[in-house]
Amino acid sequence: MGNGSAKVYVQSTEGIHFDDVAGEDEAKESLTEIVDYLHNPKKYTDVGASMPKGILLVGPPGTGKTMLAKAVAGEASVPFFSISGSEFVEMFVGMGASKVRDLFKQAKEKAPCIVFIDEIDAIGQKRNSGRLGGNDEREQTLNQLLTEMDGFESNNGVIILAATNRPESLDPALTRPGRFDRRVPVELPDLQGREAILKVHAKKIKLADDVDFRTIARMAAGASGAELANIINEAALRAVRGGRTVVGQSDLEESIEVVIAGYQKKNAVLSNKEKMVVAYHEIGHALVAA
Ligand code: ADP
Repeated sequence: MGNGSAKVYVQSTEGIHFDDVAGEDEAKESLTEIVDYLHNPKKYTDVGASMPKGILLVGPPGTGKTMLAKAVAGEASVPFFSISGSEFVEMFVGMGASKVRDLFKQAKEKAPCIVFIDEIDAIGQKRNSGRLGGNDEREQTLNQLLTEMDGFESNNGVIILAATNRPESLDPALTRPGRFDRRVPVELPDLQGREAILKVHAKKIKLADDVDFRTIARMAAGASGAELANIINEAALRAVRGGRTVVGQSDLEESIEVVIAGYQKKNAVLSNKEKMVVAYHEIGHALVAA
């Protein structure tokens, strides 16, 4: 066990670029510097500048953090290694640390490259955060990660991107200078962002002439990129169910409700109190949409 036990590090061949990620202009802007550095490290080292070793992508699930990390690799045409923090938690004692070692060994051989750690909070939670006995496996994995990050020079071309939606739960040792010392917020899309994301995903489906993405974007306030992608797909499925060959405005409007609120419950029993709470809640949506 140990070495070679798992093929967790995928080298991305999908070729995702910044253009595929709609909206998120601020995030893209701060990641462009990384791409530029990977293209031309000399420009930076000549001045004596060093790139941050680690960058934390912070934002709610489904906002495109994984996509952005892949896009950085795609834009810079460098290999992309990815692993999820939650994978470590399921492992035998001692395996987590050896996987981290393994990952960095491979990454250094392939440098310049991007290492992406999804759900870093699964291993990077504050140590001794009150739980009795703690979790040795997690701590060992975290310690190994810190050791690896300290072990390499900041200009060797390995850039670590990590994603989390709970930055406050991270161990301060991780966010210390020299480790993950840069934060890139990846927020839920605004109206324009939602419209752009809908359009990107709508390229895959056949649309009726009456489709107005601005209205859909307005109605889907608060939806993440992943939810918007899902809305498009649900609408296409609904069109098929209705025996139509193109997706219409009503399909899209109906699927917003399905994706955000779930399918209509036909026989749930609600108390009067619950009905009232739901009514107030829904009026809120109606007002916002109007
Ligand atoms: P995260 O890593 O933040 O949870 P992902 O990058 O895995 O989110 O996004 C999940 C899916 O949602 C993507 O595969 C994509 O289809 C869609 N998506 C999310 N954000 C965007 C965006 N800004 N532009 C286009 N598609 C998006």
